[in-house]
Amino acid sequence: MPEAMATARASDNTGNQATQQVDVAVVGAGFAGLYLLYRLRKAGLKTVALEEAGDVGGTWYWNRYPGARCDIQTIDYSYTFDPDLERVWTWSEKYATQPEILRYLGFVADRYDLRREIRFGTKVTTARWDEAAECWQLTTDNGANVSCRHYIMATGCLSTPKPPEIDGVKDFKGEVYFTGRWPHDEVKLAGKRVAVIGTGSSGIQSIPFFAEQAAQVTVFQRTPNFALPAHNGSAPADRKALLEKDRAGYREQARWSLAGVPYPQQTVVSWQLSDAERRERFERAWAAGDLVHILTQLWADQGVDVDGNALVAELMREKIRASVNDPDTAETLSPHDHPFGAKRPCLDTNYYATYNRPNVTLVNLRQEPIKAITATGIATDKRSFDVDVIVFATGFDAMTGAITAVHPIAGRAGKSLSSVWANGPQTYLGLTVAGFPNLFMITGPGSPSVLSNMVVSIEQHVDWVVDRLSAMREAGFTVMEATETAQAGWARHMSDCAMLTLHRLANTWYTGANVPGKVQGVMPYTGGVGPYRSICSEVVSRGMLGFKLSGPNVAEQCNDGEVVRLQPDVRLVLNMLADMNLPPIETFGAAGARLFVNEFNKSRPLGRPVGEVVDGTLPGSDGPLPYRLYRPATPGPHPIVVYFHGGGWVLGDEQSDDPFCRDMCRRSGMIFVSVGYRHAPEHRFPTAAEDGYAATRWIAEHAVELGGRSGPVLVAGWSAGGNIAAVTCQLARERGGPQIAGQLLVCPVVDCTFDRPSYTENATGYFLTRSLMYWFWDIYCSPADRTDPRVSPLRGKLEGLPPAFLVTCEFDPLRDEGIAYGDALAKAGVPVEQLQARGHFHSSFTMVDMVITGVSGREKMADALRRFAGQAGASENARHARTAPRPEVDAAE
Ligand code: NAP
Repeated sequence: MPEAMATARASDNTGNQATQQVDVAVVGAGFAGLYLLYRLRKAGLKTVALEEAGDVGGTWYWNRYPGARCDIQTIDYSYTFDPDLERVWTWSEKYATQPEILRYLGFVADRYDLRREIRFGTKVTTARWDEAAECWQLTTDNGANVSCRHYIMATGCLSTPKPPEIDGVKDFKGEVYFTGRWPHDEVKLAGKRVAVIGTGSSGIQSIPFFAEQAAQVTVFQRTPNFALPAHNGSAPADRKALLEKDRAGYREQARWSLAGVPYPQQTVVSWQLSDAERRERFERAWAAGDLVHILTQLWADQGVDVDGNALVAELMREKIRASVNDPDTAETLSPHDHPFGAKRPCLDTNYYATYNRPNVTLVNLRQEPIKAITATGIATDKRSFDVDVIVFATGFDAMTGAITAVHPIAGRAGKSLSSVWANGPQTYLGLTVAGFPNLFMITGPGSPSVLSNMVVSIEQHVDWVVDRLSAMREAGFTVMEATETAQAGWARHMSDCAMLTLHRLANTWYTGANVPGKVQGVMPYTGGVGPYRSICSEVVSRGMLGFKLSGPNVAEQCNDGEVVRLQPDVRLVLNMLADMNLPPIETFGAAGARLFVNEFNKSRPLGRPVGEVVDGTLPGSDGPLPYRLYRPATPGPHPIVVYFHGGGWVLGDEQSDDPFCRDMCRRSGMIFVSVGYRHAPEHRFPTAAEDGYAATRWIAEHAVELGGRSGPVLVAGWSAGGNIAAVTCQLARERGGPQIAGQLLVCPVVDCTFDRPSYTENATGYFLTRSLMYWFWDIYCSPADRTDPRVSPLRGKLEGLPPAFLVTCEFDPLRDEGIAYGDALAKAGVPVEQLQARGHFHSSFTMVDMVITGVSGREKMADALRRFAGQAGASENARHARTAPRPEVDAAE
């Protein structure tokens, strides 16, 4: 039953009425507000929308500067909730103009009769959570105040223009305009001298129009931006055909894509392509004139890897040089300070060519900052420019501005949202805030919003919120509030996601860097639209995880917790593996499991190039053993790392950790020799241990022949290979050599006890299962032998061992024994560093180029190896090998 006591009224200026009582109050009548009204009405909830503007449109109502268009293709930038609406509306261009988008939103409002629930010309002046009545009390500047159970901010992300921070604006005697608040009446520029401050999307779209009209245009640029020609016209035939062939499928693909536009995920990385192939892809993207295409379809590492990104940036700069006649101007227009895509790139029509016009001048504010605005124009610290008009295209207080700066919002105990967000916006899912019951944000900070096709994100948010309100009502709940735990978890997940992409490497409105004094941090969710959608669904399927629900006649419900504790890419990999529905590996038998692993490994990204890869054999404890040697491209001789692959003493070979060995060889600048030790069940305990020791001794004795540095070697291994590396160190100490300078143990098996908590907590669901570990142990080692230090090195003597770097992963059955080994080594006086990787699983660090968040861990491993080898500091080689930003991996002291 709707709780509203009074009918929502249309715009009312009498200012004297009783409080308007509704179930839901919405602020804003743009894309989000209109769809909310549609859905809320259908759900039977009494609603009012409060809109400051005189009509619908939101950002498209205000941003009406010349040249304003959308920069997502209009066939994608449209509502999809009603197939009939899609049939009756046809866009005239690939990128619709602002007037056409505004007409579309007016058409939608009329078609669904939405205006009757909108109070235009009405601003909310305060919003307060009323603890006693359990509803929001709103005051407005026009007409009745509002009392509502639920309060939804559909205020948009880019709707509060940034005030000019330049001294003297008030002294200027000419005309002043803001692109974000462009007048509704025609602005006449003919014959005038126009100054434009700002070269973001708004400046880049409008400057060519100003140049055509005005006598002189002077552009004041602080930071150049990348722009791609829109090639506007009719909608491209290929995209249209895709849509028309299967409209529902096309829309569904968009909903699960990364950016809200149905493009496939690229899998080929930049270094797998030749220069010619990269250029061909780039030219195709340039010709397509589509930001989502050029941001996602060139190569898989363009958005996550500084080197992969630099290739795109240089091709973009080449285009700028080709478009602008004056080389100095071209250079000034060329961005060098941020990765391509880290700052929102722009879509332009004739932008660069405009600088070839005689009436356009570019002023580089990096060389001559603005000193002040004067009565007659703009003074830099070198010159004065007399102008008639100043246009501020200086952007917005993005994402939080429209929520906190527009009106005070007071939640529980009167706490203001501004104070709660004093150190940056805190939200759960970007939709809700702990301490602010029944308050929702559409495309709020913490949601994919501005990094996606906004309409797709808006529809998802609105559907999720309205579905929750309906479900609450059915269950008798009246109040819904995020918990602090869930919110803190979301903040952690947000920051994990932010480490995956390059957005944090640019000073932009995405990070709040454009507003002086604003706390900085990546505000939108960078994990992608599809993953975000699946997380929102997971919150529901796990019993409204992270929300407290209460109502007058029902028991309170709170299923507290964090929805994502895995690193974002680990979550994707595990979901992908779960979708494959593989039978447990142990059910294949040893031979079948080996075949399976070989096949599985074929689908992973190839390892990166190293200087040389050599296959050979070495004498083992009982016959020859194969090895594969990875040599860095840098001049040698290099220290040698003897490496033991993973596979539970049963699976794998000297090639099976190829991507990891290549990566570590590049990062450390060391030779990696991966040893093909013998496996169980053919060769049971202690064969692997003895082979490992014999191989290490032989390699140490033949270091120079192998092209390595003479002197002590290092050992490393992952999983069962970590076991062999640890055991080798103990055997070498006992048997008088070889000398080992350090040991790198990645998720090693070190003990035969299975009752540590990690074995139970991570028994299933993280690829390496408890039952698989039991199987490995049974095949390799009979119970009577298991306490032997050659298989359970934790039970051996630990004094006098080489320094160790020990890596454990949170979601790994082997976690606790690894930590125990590190602690025991330290207790025995062995220098040891532990990296306890939060959110990672057993294979995180060996899934090179799949688990990008593993990069920083491998950097730390390489640093440790260099320290062990007496090569302090990052080598030049390692710096070059840096393949991605440095994600934070929690490391224990
Ligand atoms: P913006 O991207 O934030 O650009 C603002 C520009 O003003 C930047 O060049 C900035 O320089 C400059 N600026 C700001 N304060 C300044 C100061 N005090 N002195 C000198 N220069 C100053 O804002 P926007 O162009 O309005 O675009 C914002 C976002 O709105 C876009 O990224 C896009 O998402 C959306 N938008 C989309 C379209 C479209 O095509 N559909 C059109 C317009 C806007 P710095 O970079 O050095 O800070």
